[in-house]
Amino acid sequence: MGDNPSPTNGAGVPDPIAAERARLKCPCCASVLSLRGSDAAPRLDLVERAGLLPAAAGTMFIDPHAHMISRTTSDYEAMALAGVVAVIEPAFWLGQPRTHLGSYVDYLATIIGFERFRAGQFGIRHYCCVGLNPKEANNEALAEAVMEVLPHFAVKAGVVAMGELGYDEQTALEDKYLRLQINLAKELELPIMIHTPHRDKRRGTLRTMDVLAEHGFDPGRCVIDHNTEETVRDVLDRGYFAAFSIYPHTKMGNERMTELVRQYGAERIIVDSACDWGVSDALAVPKTAALMAERGIAPETIRKVTYQNALAIYGLSGSMREADWLEPTPIDQRSLFEGNSVLRGGQQPRIEGLRQSMDDLRIA
Ligand SMILES: [Zn+2]
Ligand SMILES: [Zn+2]
Repeated sequence: MGDNPSPTNGAGVPDPIAAERARLKCPCCASVLSLRGSDAAPRLDLVERAGLLPAAAGTMFIDPHAHMISRTTSDYEAMALAGVVAVIEPAFWLGQPRTHLGSYVDYLATIIGFERFRAGQFGIRHYCCVGLNPKEANNEALAEAVMEVLPHFAVKAGVVAMGELGYDEQTALEDKYLRLQINLAKELELPIMIHTPHRDKRRGTLRTMDVLAEHGFDPGRCVIDHNTEETVRDVLDRGYFAAFSIYPHTKMGNERMTELVRQYGAERIIVDSACDWGVSDALAVPKTAALMAERGIAPETIRKVTYQNALAIYGLSGSMREADWLEPTPIDQRSLFEGNSVLRGGQQPRIEGLRQSMDDLRIA
């Protein structure tokens, strides 16, 4: 990839912001991401893996499953530059079990509070789901205490669903707290995000949908996540949204996702990164969109699976609206959250209207 001309603005004048983007590194694979094009409409390119992901088809993406508290500010910057306008952070476990209610309460307060602020400092709208995850449901004393505080958090600003709910090992306690939380979601009129188990996935997924049906939960208000080829047909046939987590170096990579969309279309299908503290890729959604574009998937289809469907289901909460990012509050890194800033000693605060930076991120 030799010919990489100096980025210019529409009038042919060198553009320092575009030059900055030209040096952007993908935090997952360390490929150089470059926004470039012969006219005023730059394209997102993965330069070092020439030919693999040449162009994204969308202009805006939502990553509706991202554990951002585990990610860095570089991830936020890369996501914003790649066109991610909003993320949803589902409550989940932290790699080791919490043993006290207080840890849970502080965690929920963090994903509702500070993380929302932190994302905003990088131009990304942050929403979350609250819930007791299946792994920690197996600690009954903790689970009981968490159930008591959940309603308090579920009504906070930016909460778009209850989740991640579901099964891990499919134990009796997991079943008990899944059912209690389905009832709570109905009571609070919140959508549900379901985590399907990584072991015994098909049985666990079918069982989860049976339980949701038993409780009369509307499938049109529920996302079943972490699907594979062996679960997608049942999930769609029963009327649920079917989400796919695109992990690097796994079967459900963006190649397979592209084939799934070709086969099943775009209706109720959602792409997410599920990025967290494990090996994962915060840019999985824009990269998948880029691959789909290269493989000839229609732009409307790409837009649905990487943006519109997530907005449709989580927007049912009333807490997530397109206006949140189309008419955003400007970025001002001088602002504080309970006295704390994202900046460290002597750093220059970034101050800008997000609208302007979105406009020059049109991806052809
Ligand atoms: Zn999950
Ligand atoms: Zn997750």
